[in-house]
Amino acid sequence: MRRNMSTVYDVAVIGGGIGGAAAALRAAQHNLRVAWLLGDEATAKASRAKYVYTVDNMVGVHPAITQKKLAAVLSAPEHAAARKLVEEAHLHLGTQDIVDEVVERLAAQFERADILRQRVTSAARAGEEFLLATAGEEVRARHVVLSTGVMDRQPRVKVTTKGGKVIDDVNWVYPYANNETLLYCVICEGHLTREAPTVVFGASEAAAQVALMLHERYGTRVSLLTNGEPVAASGDSRRLFELYGIAVSEERVVEILDGGAKPRGASLRGFRLEGGRSVEARFALVTMGLHRVYNELAAQLGAELDERDGALETRHVLVDEATSETSVRGLFAVGDMSRRRGSAPSFKQIYTAQEFAVRAVQTVDRRVRAARRAELLAASAAPST
Ligand SMILES: Cc1cc2nc3c(=O)[nH]c(=O)nc-3n(C[C@H](O)[C@H](O)[C@H](O)COP(=O)(O)OP(=O)(O)OC[C@H]3O[C@@H](n4cnc5c(N)ncnc54)[C@H](O)[C@@H]3O)c2cc1C
Repeated sequence: MRRNMSTVYDVAVIGGGIGGAAAALRAAQHNLRVAWLLGDEATAKASRAKYVYTVDNMVGVHPAITQKKLAAVLSAPEHAAARKLVEEAHLHLGTQDIVDEVVERLAAQFERADILRQRVTSAARAGEEFLLATAGEEVRARHVVLSTGVMDRQPRVKVTTKGGKVIDDVNWVYPYANNETLLYCVICEGHLTREAPTVVFGASEAAAQVALMLHERYGTRVSLLTNGEPVAASGDSRRLFELYGIAVSEERVVEILDGGAKPRGASLRGFRLEGGRSVEARFALVTMGLHRVYNELAAQLGAELDERDGALETRHVLVDEATSETSVRGLFAVGDMSRRRGSAPSFKQIYTAQEFAVRAVQTVDRRVRAARRAELLAASAAPST
């Protein structure tokens, strides 16, 4: 169904990552009138959705499943060459694959879903409606599900070029990120570091805990690099570093020791530090906290943010434990940007984003149907004139 200026959606979903895809799909499947605002090139580039190429920890998405099914389809002797191609292909799923498939399915099959590849620049409330502004239009909706994500702080590297120019930035990260070389997600990717030399980037007690965990779980040969920041680990963590043989360095990194090209990026050998020493690393895990929680729209709508996070730009949006509704009725936040009230941990994971996106849409659906029933009953009870 094509929209016009007077369309008021049952729900607008903001964010073209996993949480947004799960919410938009469920809303469309429930036959709700849904607008899905995916964001634009710039928001995508600054999101986690863009740099997860290999989903490795979720039951059901492993490429071996597809490979096995394709091998069965191609079992006849004349398909031997095709079977070999399938065996050798990289069939791992990434976030973008998952989102793209949902976009295609919604566009093809769900008439009541509209997809806008636009960034929402501001949000306001007008009575019972939310008004969402993009660069060119305004979208009106009775409920909103936000899933605009977060961005990690990245380690800077102070490299001196052959011409003597000093480049001190984070751009070195990109060829290594998510080539199963530079890691960000200890829950989903930590297992890759088993017994391998691995650098943990970070200076906080949280980074220290990750370093200890890698050693304890996987026998990983860990070094902690604070990259110029003072170590803020507790006394107990420092003592355990000694017992486990975890080296800690506060020097800046001045060179990446490249291990040669891999199919989708680069591999690591290690890092050279300012004092001249090298640290061996097959992997590096970034645990420097968050650079941003994309909470502006939630803040504009008056939703409560978690002050324990400190600076405004890194505050998560507080949500109800069961429904993921924010402190503003009708406004939901899911995925990495949200934090559940109470003591339950809030994992930043694909399946968590999906579960709470579905819970939010279930709540929207219940309310939309309840409102229709109430209208119908009121109309049927009205005395005829
Ligand atoms: C390197 C890496 C590997 C990971 N691997 C795994 C894994 O194997 N398994 C797992 O379970 N989890 C993994 N995770 C975690 C997982 O990627 C996140 O939990 C998940 O992507 C969160 O989805 P999200 O919808 O909250 O946010 P994102 O996926 O970050 O999506 C945010 C979306 O919002 C859009 N957006 C932002 N601002 C606006 C705006 N104003 N208007 C409209 N749109 C906007 C962006 O363009 C983007 O599309 C990994 C994370 C990283 C960083």
